Amino acid sequence: MSHPAPQAAAAADPLLDVLVIGCGLRATGLLTATPELFRHDLGVLDAADRLGVGSFAHYDIESNSHGSDFFGWIDPAGPFGPLLAEEPVRRLRTVPGSFHLALLAEALDRAGRAIGAMLPPDRLVLGDEAVEVALRTGGPVRVRTRAGRTLRAGTVVLATGIRERTGPELRRWQGKLVLSRALVAPGARERCAELGRRPGPLCLAGASHSAFSVLHRILAHRPPDGPEIVLVTRSPVRIHYPDRDAYRAANHTPAEAVPDPDRDICPETGNVHRYSGLRNTSKALFHAVAAGRVPGVRLVVAPDAADRAPYFERARVIVQSTGYGSNPPAVTRDGRPVRCTTAGGLVRTDERGRLLLDGTAAEAVFVMGMDPYPYDDNSVNPTNQYARRGRHILGQLSKRGTYEAAGRWQRC
Ligand SMILES: Cc1cc2nc3c(=O)[nH]c(=O)nc-3n(C[C@H](O)[C@H](O)[C@H](O)COP(=O)(O)OP(=O)(O)OC[C@H]3O[C@@H](n4cnc5c(N)ncnc54)[C@H](O)[C@@H]3O)c2cc1C
Repeated sequence: MSHPAPQAAAAADPLLDVLVIGCGLRATGLLTATPELFRHDLGVLDAADRLGVGSFAHYDIESNSHGSDFFGWIDPAGPFGPLLAEEPVRRLRTVPGSFHLALLAEALDRAGRAIGAMLPPDRLVLGDEAVEVALRTGGPVRVRTRAGRTLRAGTVVLATGIRERTGPELRRWQGKLVLSRALVAPGARERCAELGRRPGPLCLAGASHSAFSVLHRILAHRPPDGPEIVLVTRSPVRIHYPDRDAYRAANHTPAEAVPDPDRDICPETGNVHRYSGLRNTSKALFHAVAAGRVPGVRLVVAPDAADRAPYFERARVIVQSTGYGSNPPAVTRDGRPVRCTTAGGLVRTDERGRLLLDGTAAEAVFVMGMDPYPYDDNSVNPTNQYARRGRHILGQLSKRGTYEAAGRWQRC
């Protein structure tokens, strides 16, 4: 696979059928679930120097997934079938319970290499990022990159992941705020250890998998008389159970969310809080903290901001572990900037996965993922979701074929 360096503007950049922008887990899922996309003139652009791994290169923590959640979308008889026999992929898919996310990164790296090998070298751009997706009425999408290229495509798939931002509520404490991403990254263990050793109360805002991963690290170094730690969350915490019986058999505390049978129990697997619930080490630590079994650590559910503020005020350090939103490049339409995220920082799509701009679907721009919780508990599973989005895109491509036949695309 070639790893070309960023290049200056290339006058002769071709008109692609599809350009995938960003190729971490979600685009890897899409492309490996839908190999038919490679029959079209497909290009992939990624800011990193390799495909597949995406954010998992930055998480030095245990998973909040099961290994068997991944790669089931690959057709064993298709062009990506051999990937299933590669050691990291096989190991991931058979690992029982929790695993370190480095294993997922390794498996995704193999998948990224396989994708790269399927692309002609001039259809793969690594180490350069999209800074603007420019939509033009009646013409192809133009994607401007940091290095000054303009890539043109009839259809674009945005798969640039999620980004952690300081939430508005915590801005006033900016000076003592740390984003959780910085504490789950490789090389951040010593920083967590220091947080656990230094005196003065710590506050973790949010009770997400990130929060419990950070807490886990801090507790490993916290002496018995170490700082008081309070996790403050707006709402009761969702916990994953394999089924209703397992949920019923467990002890529950008031800090735990009560599942709504219509919304939170997967009709396919029976899982409770299938994708949004804490699992593995985070789940175990949640139960211990919520039951008061971890000395010096408390979990507070406070729906009102006024009730949360005193904890933030008193803390020596606040670790924000909520606040992930979509990470899109700028989008313009006929030269004018258009907002593509909600007030909460999320991109929204129509039922075919096309980007909504001011409530209207952009015909030529699909979104893959870009939401911290892309699967509502009762929605399709990731396996189906990748193939489903692939079908939507293939449908769009055949439509474009019709345009071509009518000569409409000759203008661009
Ligand atoms: C702490 C933490 C733990 C998590 N643990 C799990 C877990 O156990 N299991 C799980 O399924 N999910 C987990 N997640 C969620 C996980 O991050 C997402 O599921 C996954 O990374 C989403 O994949 P993605 O492809 O959308 O984004 P990413 O993996 O972030 O990939 C995005 C890709 O886009 C590229 N990119 C970004 N911007 C641009 C641009 N402008 N131009 C070109 N390329 C660009 C990046 O280089 C990257 O390769 C966790 C999240 C966090 C924060």
